[in-house]
Amino acid sequence: MAVKTMTASHATGKGKPDASFSSAGKGKVAIAKYGKENVVDATLGVLKDDNGDFLTLKGVEKIYRNLPGNELMDYAPIEGLREFLDAATECIFQGHQPKNTYTSAVATPGGTGGIHHMIFNYVEKGETFLIPEWHWGPYREIATEVEKKWELYQMFDEKGNFTLKDLKERAKRLLETQDSIMTIFNTPAHNPSGYTMTDEDWQEIMDFYKECAKDESKKIIVIWDMAYIDYAGDPDELRTFMKAFEDMPENILVAIAYSMSKSYLIYGMRSGALACLTSAKHVADEFEQVNTYSNRATWSNGSRGAQRLLAEIVKDPALKKQIDEERLQYKEMLEKRAAIFVKEAGEVGLNILPYKSGFFITLPAKDSAGLAEKLAEDNIFVIPLAKAIRFAISAVPTFQVPGLAKRVKDVFAGH
Ligand code: PLP
Repeated sequence: MAVKTMTASHATGKGKPDASFSSAGKGKVAIAKYGKENVVDATLGVLKDDNGDFLTLKGVEKIYRNLPGNELMDYAPIEGLREFLDAATECIFQGHQPKNTYTSAVATPGGTGGIHHMIFNYVEKGETFLIPEWHWGPYREIATEVEKKWELYQMFDEKGNFTLKDLKERAKRLLETQDSIMTIFNTPAHNPSGYTMTDEDWQEIMDFYKECAKDESKKIIVIWDMAYIDYAGDPDELRTFMKAFEDMPENILVAIAYSMSKSYLIYGMRSGALACLTSAKHVADEFEQVNTYSNRATWSNGSRGAQRLLAEIVKDPALKKQIDEERLQYKEMLEKRAAIFVKEAGEVGLNILPYKSGFFITLPAKDSAGLAEKLAEDNIFVIPLAKAIRFAISAVPTFQVPGLAKRVKDVFAGH
């Protein structure tokens, strides 16, 4: 007898090849064959320089390489080094922690780890949380992994403007049958659209949730996934929206997924933090307790070297300033690439989602897989999403950007 599967029933069939990494693999093969200057590899969301080489922040590299062996190799506490948690909290709020709120935090392996814990610990078994139709795929994968359900809400209306209408309707409907509702917002520089929610967008959604929270039997959980914030604009202006978190009732909890991957260009070192905002101290304590437990039960502790790195950077203002300035140059390079692409897309009539900033520009498309294959024939490698083509403009050297929109438009037109 030949067994069909050895997995437990809940695991059977999961784990199809990841579209991002398989397209990236094809891009690499083409680079080896034709040379990197002849291949546009816009697959993975990493920052590359104008030669197409992986970028690091030199200041970050120097501190990391100079850390003593024990700081690199030893265990970190399960909840994270205290100095790291303080540093991460400082990086998150930068003086904008809303009045009358408590916060607590635990270290996680990147933003992914924080999102995992939120979906696991704050969505009831078998219940549904809300994500926008345009979203980062792992939200769904994590939900499947921990046996939770999700529902998609419309993010842009027919005119391409950001909308909260559908989200509110769905939240209301879910709250008729569920006692809690969790929603994930990835902003600024949303992956994949590049959209940044305005202060008014945040005020509107928080006013709505405060209204929902008047029913004290309901629990409202808001996740702010801030992965791309350091490439999106002025750090203060990007944090003024947090005023919308003032005066929250105790049954609203805000969770913040902080990632060092993009902010310090250390994607592979897997470090970040999950923090919260609440008007109730006991909710902040509980947050720390349950998420520390989940750390222990999922991956144990995080990478001590990466935690010490952030602590060293934040405690030295001159060093932090130097790294911020280095990152600013990369941000300007990214802005230049995006500006060329967005302008030329407008000129050739290529429809894109409303990009404001960040690593990705996304083009709605019907047969995205077919189009990605056609683009690959022209040595342009992209990620096909369910209903769009995603360009990681962060990974495309500036010299390759002029004319790219036209090349893409021609492929779309001929498909
Ligand atoms: N959220 C979004 C939208 C992302 O695109 C990413 C990384 O690609 C993350 C969170 C978290 O990344 P990491 O786990 O590397 O911090």
